[in-house]
Amino acid sequence: VPDVHATRRSALQATLAERDLDAALVTRLVNVRYLTGFSGSAGALLVGRDGAVLASDGRYTTQMARQAPDVERLTAAAPLRALCDRAGTDGARRVGFEAHDLTVEVHGQVAGLLGNVELVALGRVVEAQRAVKDESEIELIRQACAVADRAFAELIAGPLAGRTEKDVAGDLEARMRAHGADGASFDTIVASGPNSAVPHHRPTDRVIEPGELLKLDFGALVAGYHSDMTRTVVVGPAADWQREVYALVQQAQQAGLDAVRPGAIGGELDALVRDVIGGAGHADHYTHSLGHGVGLEIHEAPTLRPDASDRLADRMPVTVEPGVYLPDRGGVRIEDLVVVRPGGPEILTTTTKELLVL
Ligand code: ZN
Ligand code: ZN
Repeated sequence: VPDVHATRRSALQATLAERDLDAALVTRLVNVRYLTGFSGSAGALLVGRDGAVLASDGRYTTQMARQAPDVERLTAAAPLRALCDRAGTDGARRVGFEAHDLTVEVHGQVAGLLGNVELVALGRVVEAQRAVKDESEIELIRQACAVADRAFAELIAGPLAGRTEKDVAGDLEARMRAHGADGASFDTIVASGPNSAVPHHRPTDRVIEPGELLKLDFGALVAGYHSDMTRTVVVGPAADWQREVYALVQQAQQAGLDAVRPGAIGGELDALVRDVIGGAGHADHYTHSLGHGVGLEIHEAPTLRPDASDRLADRMPVTVEPGVYLPDRGGVRIEDLVVVRPGGPEILTTTTKELLVL
């Protein structure tokens, strides 16, 4: 059985051949991880037409051998320099690099080390490859979503009024860890009352009061893969305006989910959902994009935002997360993480979207 990482490197090698490149210097660590399994915090990867060399420093020699046993490995005090030397001795003439990652400073150093070798911007080739997941990756994201669902169910079974946003956020993260998460996939958002009108509010010492909207945006990290979900509840009783805003966001979110299919364009999905909210007179109260891909990073390709030309494909996990935010009053966002499938999206975040009045 070929290792998944070898399969991924083969796909990159096919791109190198198409572009007449002898090798690619992969410096973005998340891409190195995707192509080798190596998750250290320093290192780089040189992918040639028919081989690859992973380099890191002495702290990671053992970890490289354990995580990337099928790749040639180099330990060097200056891993990038070692890989540039290697490209030279291998006789490479055109080498791709990740222009979105390499600083101008390091690019200058690499160019100096490579001498007459031509450096060519590779573009986000590995990121594009990463957008479509294999089933083993989807399974890890599914597990991360299940952990978050369980933690949320436990959290809302207990009292919320009288607690601070920070306390609730810490509690939710602890429960995710207790259910097997390696950690939270990003800083948990808990936003109460008027704070819920701030899309990316950071939890404060504000005490949650009865009758308020409470927006929670959170996720779990499992084996490097992220989950992402938002639910908005009312710490009861619910007012009519809260129910109306909630119903609108729920309707818009469902319209978005219904349109998720292979071939759909990110910008068109965004527009479709935005039209539902705009039609209800709340265009100015929906101030962010519809969604994003999720995987080894919490935000990755594809993007679902105005004018995005990204085309959805089978096995892409994406979020659908519209919101309506009324300044100084409160806001509602509903976010699911779903996998694009030919027969309609597979919804990984299974917590109910009926308005929960706690
Ligand atoms: Zn989120
Ligand atoms: Zn999100």
